[in-house]
Amino acid sequence: MASAAHQTVGPQTLGLTMRAAVLRGQEDLRIEDVPIPTAGRGELVLRVGAALTCGTDLKVYRRGYHAKMLTLDRLFGHELAGTVVQVGGGVTTFSLGDRVLPLNSAPCDACFFCQNNQQNLCDDLLFNNGAYAEFIRIPARIVEKNTLHIPDTLPFEFAALTEPLACVIRGLEESNSSAGQTVIVLGAGPIGLLFIQAASLLGLHVIAVVKRKDQIATARHFGAEQALRISDVPDPVAAARSLTPEGRGADIVFEAVATPEAWQWAVQMARKGGLVNLFGGPPSGTSVSLDTNLIHYSDLTLKASFHHTPATARRAFELVASDRFQAQDFLTGTATIEDLPNVFRRMLTRPADGIAPEIKTAIFLDASSQPAALTASTIEEHA
Ligand SMILES: [Zn+2]
Ligand SMILES: [Zn+2]
Repeated sequence: MASAAHQTVGPQTLGLTMRAAVLRGQEDLRIEDVPIPTAGRGELVLRVGAALTCGTDLKVYRRGYHAKMLTLDRLFGHELAGTVVQVGGGVTTFSLGDRVLPLNSAPCDACFFCQNNQQNLCDDLLFNNGAYAEFIRIPARIVEKNTLHIPDTLPFEFAALTEPLACVIRGLEESNSSAGQTVIVLGAGPIGLLFIQAASLLGLHVIAVVKRKDQIATARHFGAEQALRISDVPDPVAAARSLTPEGRGADIVFEAVATPEAWQWAVQMARKGGLVNLFGGPPSGTSVSLDTNLIHYSDLTLKASFHHTPATARRAFELVASDRFQAQDFLTGTATIEDLPNVFRRMLTRPADGIAPEIKTAIFLDASSQPAALTASTIEEHA
């Protein structure tokens, strides 16, 4: 029996099936009719307000699998926000009609890593996928630990930026960053740009090292004080170092390219005693050779960052909801769910140099659910 707290608008109102993206294999994404989920005890079902494309989803699409996050024949997409349409028994913190942001994972808080304040490394990290759909079920653990209320004034597609930003915020915090430091951000894809924006808002001086011509303007738009294009200089390492105070190198280098070459450059761009955060994850089986003398005699700290924790998700959400964060400018395109396979096909091939690729595409159920302000949105500086 459903408890008194169990509220639902029922399958009669919701219908029995919904449109949803299902990843059937490598580069095989289909929009299909699938059963509408129902909320079990402790769970919620949301009507998806907006979902965002993500580089991780593109990787999964290209490879057809993800080691941790999702297996084949599964619902797809993990950055979203939406409205509660079913409330499972025992849920007291959310009600029908609430606008919420569910993160895509929640830790167990019982294992060694959780107890060690490393919930992102939880042995039993529970992932949830299925953002590219009309409805999504949110598992009890995520409802309990990692779902946040959204203010009425914050659009769904802005709130959905919290997940990637939470990874970035954790990367910044774990690198002991503080205002006034000089950081180099290698890469100006969605993650590199989030690093640039977050670091500059936190008072760090940001030097962006980018590949494409259009990325110079984009990096500056999001807060980079200086931007350098690698093909414009004979030696990107020397050129980047020359932009740091007294040419000594960066206090912190954030690598957000995920190639062996970028990892090598990142290590060479740090100052003595500096820290290198190798944030981008190259494909499994990749090896890199690094200058051991440089690392030893420069007393470098090398680290990597994976994923987020409930605490960094909350801090990321505060930043997203603040006026200072340029949420709108990360959302360079919109599409309907039916067009999603085309969006992913386009993401496989980057446009010609000088034409800015999409940063994030906001996916809405249909054209009528797209906010008017967004449908026409592009940032002029990108052109
Ligand atoms: Zn993501
Ligand atoms: Zn755990």
